[in-house]
Amino acid sequence: MNCLEFRRRLGSEPASTLDSFIAHRAECFGCAAAHSRADEFEARLRRAVSVAVPVNLADRILLAQTTELRQGLRKRRRGFSTLILAAAASIVVAVLALQRPSQQMPALAAMVDAHLHKHVVTASEAQSEVARQDVIDTFAQRGVSLAAVPDGVNFVHKCPAGPYKTVHMVMPQEGIPVSVVYVVDAPPQSRVEFSRDGTYGREVPMGKGTLVMLAASSNGFDSIENAWKSAMDAGVAQNREVKTLFAAKSLPGAASWDWRTRVAAP
Ligand SMILES: [Zn+2]
Ligand SMILES: [Zn+2]
Repeated sequence: MNCLEFRRRLGSEPASTLDSFIAHRAECFGCAAAHSRADEFEARLRRAVSVAVPVNLADRILLAQTTELRQGLRKRRRGFSTLILAAAASIVVAVLALQRPSQQMPALAAMVDAHLHKHVVTASEAQSEVARQDVIDTFAQRGVSLAAVPDGVNFVHKCPAGPYKTVHMVMPQEGIPVSVVYVVDAPPQSRVEFSRDGTYGREVPMGKGTLVMLAASSNGFDSIENAWKSAMDAGVAQNREVKTLFAAKSLPGAASWDWRTRVAAP
């Protein structure tokens, strides 16, 4: 089991007894920490739900209902209160569901989100655009060659997300800072859009990695995604061109080598 598979299972089944789950927890420090955070969250959830109920609550409800009937209230009204009770119950269920972060956010984005909580980039750090060469160099240090750099990268840093390597950027869009994190070495993800507790996110497979965007609004996601897509495509195109040139140059040499070999052969 790798880290992503572990985090996915942790989201759906925190108390899993699967052998590979337990084995990964024992050998991976990051995932073991995530597991104890999830444990703590489950415990808090249980404490929140276990509200003391008055001993005679059932009797009181029945009494109230009987009284209502005696007072000759219309059937329609009872139907209405049942509806309100059902609505209240579904709100409770919805609130509980919303409080479970890992079920809402894909595993990789959750690792990125956890990093963003630890590594808070201040407004003054992301005040103005960084030099394009800094962005190119940072990606190059992660093994990714860029031919173009999108406008508006105001912060760039090599960072981790769980066990994975990333380039952590901030690209403000219409005054809202968007965290744009390119994860270099995670297994391929599918494209996904999500939101939780006022945080909007999008995960896009791009090049050999994944671009993760997180912000208070998803308004800027399309333009950031398109800008990075063309920057990565340009990088790939340039690599292809270099390869073609090399092949073209090596052809005459290879041909003459063949020729000499043939001549020298008995
Ligand atoms: Zn792990
Ligand atoms: Zn960072």
